[in-house]
Amino acid sequence: MFTLIKLPYALDALQPVISEQTLSFHYGKHLQAYVDNLNKLIAGTDFENMPLEEIVSKSSGAIFNNAGQVLNHNMYFTQFMGMQENSPSKLEGVARSAGGVCQAITRDFGSLENFKQEFEQKGTTLFGSGWVWLSADKEGKLVITQEQNANNPITKGLKPLLTIDVWEHAYYLDYQNRRAAHLQALWSIINWEEIERRYVAVNDKG
Ligand code: MN
Repeated sequence: MFTLIKLPYALDALQPVISEQTLSFHYGKHLQAYVDNLNKLIAGTDFENMPLEEIVSKSSGAIFNNAGQVLNHNMYFTQFMGMQENSPSKLEGVARSAGGVCQAITRDFGSLENFKQEFEQKGTTLFGSGWVWLSADKEGKLVITQEQNANNPITKGLKPLLTIDVWEHAYYLDYQNRRAAHLQALWSIINWEEIERRYVAVNDKG
């Protein structure tokens, strides 16, 4: 049985980048529905007691779609913090950490600004519903990929670090058709300490 993750912030904490209304629908309705559907679909099957990542790697069809959406959203919702608490000095702290994710971004994209531009561009040009990802490949090189619908880069052997949901339900109430503006605004609520934790965990696992 999977349960709805707890948000590490209040429903109104991400305003004005993500409104309380968007968050309550996105987290409370969309993610809850994916969790409920997944639990119904896996009951009595071989998937019932598998970790989420393993279900995503081994399933297809409706089970894959719902498991993928739970995994993707769990990662998505836990990487934010309110912009009031998210001071630029936090990013500087992460940026200074030797061998950390910011140094790897600079190494592989030239600069944080270049990375943001490429990430926004891939998010804007993803056709239809899906997710844009920053992941580490097998050699530890950072790559940005687009994934359709519920897909997750773990199915390509990548190790995901950061993701943005570009399904319309993630931004339409607040930004309507302005997906690019939404993507641009999100940087101020990315919790880089969490991205750094993921990067360290990925490197520890090898
Ligand atoms: Mn979503």
